[in-house]
Amino acid sequence: MANPRRRKSKMKKRQIKAGRPYLGVQSNSCTSCGSPVLPHRVCKSCGIYGGVQAVTPKTKKKGKTK
Ligand SMILES: [Zn+2]
Repeated sequence: MANPRRRKSKMKKRQIKAGRPYLGVQSNSCTSCGSPVLPHRVCKSCGIYGGVQAVTPKTKKKGKTK
């Protein structure tokens, strides 16, 4: 595998990083339902993670009133 000959110095790394702004956490779309999902998180709407049903999604219950 190709390997860099020398580690980039702190200054060089910071100079490179200063050129491109932080875009925030990039969200992906769920493969099964298509809703936006944070990376490495279970989908909140359908409960699927990595093509496997990880959790059963919560359904909003009605009836409880304060
Ligand atoms: Zn989903």
